[in-house]
Amino acid sequence: MKPAAFEYHAAGTIDEALALLAKYGNGAKPLAGGQSLIPAMNFRLATPAVLIDLNSISELAGVASRDGVLQIGGMTRHRALERSAEVARHAPLVTLAMPFIAHAAIRSRGTIGGSLAHADPAAELPAVMLALDARMTLRRQTAARTVAAADFFIGLFATALEPGELLTEIEIPHAPPRSGFAFDEVSRRHGDFALAGAAAHVVLDAQGICTRARVTLLSVADRPVIAAQVAQHLVGGAPTAERIRAAADAAAAHDIDPTSDIHASSGYRRQLAAVLTRRVLERAFQSVVPT
Ligand SMILES: Cc1cc2nc3c(=O)[nH]c(=O)nc-3n(C[C@H](O)[C@H](O)[C@H](O)COP(=O)(O)OP(=O)(O)OC[C@H]3O[C@@H](n4cnc5c(N)ncnc54)[C@H](O)[C@@H]3O)c2cc1C
Repeated sequence: MKPAAFEYHAAGTIDEALALLAKYGNGAKPLAGGQSLIPAMNFRLATPAVLIDLNSISELAGVASRDGVLQIGGMTRHRALERSAEVARHAPLVTLAMPFIAHAAIRSRGTIGGSLAHADPAAELPAVMLALDARMTLRRQTAARTVAAADFFIGLFATALEPGELLTEIEIPHAPPRSGFAFDEVSRRHGDFALAGAAAHVVLDAQGICTRARVTLLSVADRPVIAAQVAQHLVGGAPTAERIRAAADAAAAHDIDPTSDIHASSGYRRQLAAVLTRRVLERAFQSVVPT
């Protein structure tokens, strides 16, 4: 199918894009990599009256590191994140998750801002942002605000973004010393959306006691989920194999209530959540470099 008719405007600057969004209001949609929006328009699941193309806005793309924070422009391509030494150094969980996103051709076009704004519950980056306590800068013509990842994803393909707002920047705090990370997922074929996935960020103190144990799960609810049981079981103690297993089992039993669909049953997703949570925790603790 072909998309319904729409007006097209290419913005050259953030200000231009915000002015166009303000002018066209609810009927307008920003166009980033187009890897989700264009298929949705071709199927007429999305019928925006106006597309505002962000692809020529150079100030919206790039990675910088300042004052203990990694700053990523909304139009930064997946491929650029995957290859960024700055990202690998300060937020290695992002680097670990990137190869799980679709295929290289899609990662060459797709952007972090597009992925987060689209908020597919099976997408990797929303869960990674939640695991890393990222913050999103949302700008409109007259104002800007910052929203924590925990408040940004509010439902199925739904975010805190309001009409007229653009996700301009994502901020990720630099990983503290003695951090460990891991990402894993199960999908039917490489590049498919995950049936379930897990991201982990852990921190140990100098004595080997766990001071942070954050696991987020994807594709088990309408949005990424923090496995709260993991921190409850692990923070304050040494991460033994028994504790990790108990934490993973408790997370799968109490932190999620997955639904069944044509891809996987609820029970299978719960089982995957337990296995993946244990796996990412084991790997994350093993990856901590003592200082
Ligand atoms: C075959 C295939 C397989 C895929 N597999 C995966 C996968 O395994 N995992 C995964 O995570 N993704 C997957 N994707 C999606 C891909 O990662 C997309 O790149 C991503 O979801 C959307 O990014 P985009 O830049 O293409 O955004 P677009 O498609 O251009 O936009 C998506 C939505 O976000 C809005 N938007 C875009 N940028 C902004 C912004 N800066 N501010 C506010 N709103 C904005 C748009 O208006 C639109 O509503 C797949 C896509 C395809 C085609």
